[in-house]
Amino acid sequence: MEKRPTFALVNREYIRHNFGKVKESIPPDTEVLAVIKANAYGHGAFEVANVLRSCGCRMFGVAFCEEGAELRSAGIREDIVVLGGVYSNQLKGLIDHDLTPVVYDLDTAVSLNALAKKMDRHVGVHVKVDTGMGRLGLLRHEVVPFFEKLKHLGNISVEGIMSHFSDVDEEDKAYADKQLKDFMDTIDIINGRGWKPRFVHMSNSATVIDYPQAHFNMVRPGIMLYGALPNPRFYGRVDIRPALELKTRVVRIKRLCEGSVVSYGRSFVAGKETLIATVPLGYGDGYPRSLSGKGEMLIRGKRARVAGYVCMDLTMLDVSSIEGIAVGDEVVVIGRQGEEELTAGDVAAWAGMIPYELFCNISQRVERLYI
Ligand SMILES: *Cc1c(COP(=O)(O)O)cnc(C)c1O
Repeated sequence: MEKRPTFALVNREYIRHNFGKVKESIPPDTEVLAVIKANAYGHGAFEVANVLRSCGCRMFGVAFCEEGAELRSAGIREDIVVLGGVYSNQLKGLIDHDLTPVVYDLDTAVSLNALAKKMDRHVGVHVKVDTGMGRLGLLRHEVVPFFEKLKHLGNISVEGIMSHFSDVDEEDKAYADKQLKDFMDTIDIINGRGWKPRFVHMSNSATVIDYPQAHFNMVRPGIMLYGALPNPRFYGRVDIRPALELKTRVVRIKRLCEGSVVSYGRSFVAGKETLIATVPLGYGDGYPRSLSGKGEMLIRGKRARVAGYVCMDLTMLDVSSIEGIAVGDEVVVIGRQGEEELTAGDVAAWAGMIPYELFCNISQRVERLYI
């Protein structure tokens, strides 16, 4: 079946470029664990993994075991670290697919070890330490007892130790400094007792860009690989390129007389004669409904505002000021057209979202095309 004219265009060359920028920000012997969870932030995990491995990336990070399993089944052979950990019903699948879990609780480690032993396998793990995110990791006082216990689990070995920042993207680094100190103290204690995990890592994209003291010997960038910024304050600071464009086309144009209504709820009433264009994209595709009456898209190099509520499958635009507009005209939702650009950060900000969220919301029914 031929597709409707709504699609996300992903530029492989820009992902390569962005990976290069990550490499430029770190010493040559520092490893990159490329974060491709949530279908590579909507960019397509398998495609992105393929691009990155062609530029020498040897480690990938996903959130859940099933994401890792899917990549394995698609033929990705590089190391895959499951950042969110492994749940008790997934241990066999994890071992079968040769995934590397992050661990932070003893019951899981014990069960994993027992199963690995039974399957005659050895599993590398990364231990997660909570330095102030209050989420998954071991609290500081739990770390040494945890390592003591792991010593006795012969089919597990600790390949990495990691932590995660709460607000390192902010200007004020007081809390990040505290987290970093906490992590370094923990590493010292662990090293002092003879445990020397090969990888030490704490760096998301913001840390790669703005906080080199926390790079250790591996970094875990996600969003910057896709050419978006973790925080608008980094604008102009790093030369990364937006890898994804979201596009559609005008499918219908109508001239409405004064007083006419557009979309559900009659929130848009034409104050004068108004030209309305309809595009086949709506909140069912991940275009935020909160952009009703507020978002902008590009047509013929100009901005057109969303008229009325965004529908599930369709959105209407006030195109009264766009000269020569015609059915079939390209509409850029995220991306560049002529001199104008709408970044994922811009669109997200209008919606009170972050670019991460906007990317993840681009739904399955939007076709991804790769160039
Ligand atoms: C998602 C994630 C990252 C990547 O963060 P970005 O801000 O996208 O660079 C790194 N580490 C962990 C543990 C994550 O969950």
